[in-house]
Amino acid sequence: MPRIKKKRILVPKPRSRFVVVVCPNCGYKQIVFDHATFPVTCSSCGTRLVKTTGGKAKILGAIERVLG
Ligand SMILES: [Zn+2]
Repeated sequence: MPRIKKKRILVPKPRSRFVVVVCPNCGYKQIVFDHATFPVTCSSCGTRLVKTTGGKAKILGAIERVLG
């Protein structure tokens, strides 16, 4: 009996996502990339919203919503 090789297609789970972060200082809502490799600051008041810690981003504000 011939063996039929099943091709396995690996679908990588998306680890990164976009989140709506509320600025703790002024309440401005901003969409930031959860795995940002660069610091993100509030475009309204300039407070840092995302801190980068050795590759992984740390979100400093409150996450209001996760997009996708
Ligand atoms: Zn702000």
